[in-house]
Amino acid sequence: MESRTQFFINGLWTAPAGTGTIKVFSPTDGALLATIPEGNAADADAAVRAARAAFDAWAATAPAERAALLKKIQDGLKARTDEIARTITLEMGMPYKLSQRIQVGSPTASFGMYARMLADFPFEEQVGHSKVVREAVGVVAAITPWNYPLHQIAAKVAAALAAGCTLVLKPSEVAPLNAFLLAEIIHDAGVPPGVFNLVTGYGQGVGEALVTHPEVDMVSFTGSTRAGKRISELAAETVKRVALELGGKSAAIILDDADFPVAVKGVVGNCYLNSGQTCTAHTRMLVPAARHDEAARIAVAAAQAYRVGDPLAEGTTLGPLASKMQQDRVREYIAKGQAEGAELLTGGGDLPEGVNPAGYYVRPTVFGKVKWDATIAQEEIFGPVLSIIGYEDEDDAVRIANSTIYGLAGGVWSASDEHAERVARRLRTGQVDINGGPFNLYAPFGGYKQSGNGRELGKYGLEDFLEYKAMQFKPAPKTSKA
Ligand code: NAD
Repeated sequence: MESRTQFFINGLWTAPAGTGTIKVFSPTDGALLATIPEGNAADADAAVRAARAAFDAWAATAPAERAALLKKIQDGLKARTDEIARTITLEMGMPYKLSQRIQVGSPTASFGMYARMLADFPFEEQVGHSKVVREAVGVVAAITPWNYPLHQIAAKVAAALAAGCTLVLKPSEVAPLNAFLLAEIIHDAGVPPGVFNLVTGYGQGVGEALVTHPEVDMVSFTGSTRAGKRISELAAETVKRVALELGGKSAAIILDDADFPVAVKGVVGNCYLNSGQTCTAHTRMLVPAARHDEAARIAVAAAQAYRVGDPLAEGTTLGPLASKMQQDRVREYIAKGQAEGAELLTGGGDLPEGVNPAGYYVRPTVFGKVKWDATIAQEEIFGPVLSIIGYEDEDDAVRIANSTIYGLAGGVWSASDEHAERVARRLRTGQVDINGGPFNLYAPFGGYKQSGNGRELGKYGLEDFLEYKAMQFKPAPKTSKA
């Protein structure tokens, strides 16, 4: 069992102010995997003070200097890929091969992207007689969840460091071990003391202490809509900038002219990635009502082809959920779907066959004939549960897709990209994948409606951590023609 006992504050591994610890459990068998310190308000304060003290000098560095350090962090992550991928698989359950590619590959690429972007990012422009400069917003509190733990951390840390901000990271208490590895890499890269600080603990403890701290200028949060609302309320007291990446209930619309086998399999794959614990997961599959059964047959076959099991075992395509709480929650939603009259086509609330019964596994589940306003069609489940919903015509499909409180992502499938784009433009979401178009780190990522505000990744993510300053110069007096 691993035991972490220190925070990373002001460039030093530092003993916590209190004595509390948090247990981290293995999703594959429920065993105790590690303990980490439970930070409190005094730890938050020490970390914020360090970040504040480091801010002026860091914000004044040349972009090329920051780029060189970001590149070193990228190299550090790359060199430790296998170790980090294994750590994330152990703490949150994604199959190891996918962890290497997604859980480590993506954050590594994010640091590289921001290093390159600094080469020509326009920090200044002339607007008439004003010089408009873009400056770091200040000290950032970054608060992150467990589902793509290091990717979500990197989206904030790499962009904030590129902007010239200093920060305090509070990672998820469910999957925190990867954040300690990142702190080691940042330390080894030679980032100046206080620029990056790490504290761990619960949201209501050290998390809220960061959100309410008067020396924090911005909170960048990824997690549940419930916590996002609470954070917005608390941050309002000191008028902090708040960027929120929250939940989703994304719809994939399969149009009548789509290639059904390809589209349906594509949606199932999207929905089940990371055992459904993806905020952009396409969890609602919208199909022409007359073709429901055809889509259902393909979806069931695709779901049954998954191999559920130990995420470290070769050949596993679906790991356990990250926590016991999450497993219970998903099984409750499955029971609710049945109680509300949806047709359970495959899967269900029982444990999958052949898995360790102490692990947090859930069967890949497909519900058919789901009503658009059923609980399982409106609320985020965060598990491998797909709902097939029939629509009458395209207007009906768009109406159903837009019918939830969320607006994070969606998909449209059609034989024609133009046709798909016409429908995509009507969706009230921050992302739409056309015919399975893959994730793009350079595109803006974030949501409409209660999925949040602000955008991460690409140049948009860097801009989120910048303030504008306009300096007006007195125009030179016009010389008379004489
Ligand atoms: P969560 O909201 O419970 O926790 C996220 C983080 O916030 C954790 O670090 C937690 O300790 C902290 N936190 C919780 N309450 C807090 C408070 N009052 N003050 C300060 N910090 C607080 O979410 P989770 O269970 O870790 O993650 C799952 C949720 O995150 C899902 O709803 C999912 O959709 C969402 N999510 C969204 C995105 C996105 O980019 N939109 C990405 C991943 C996950």
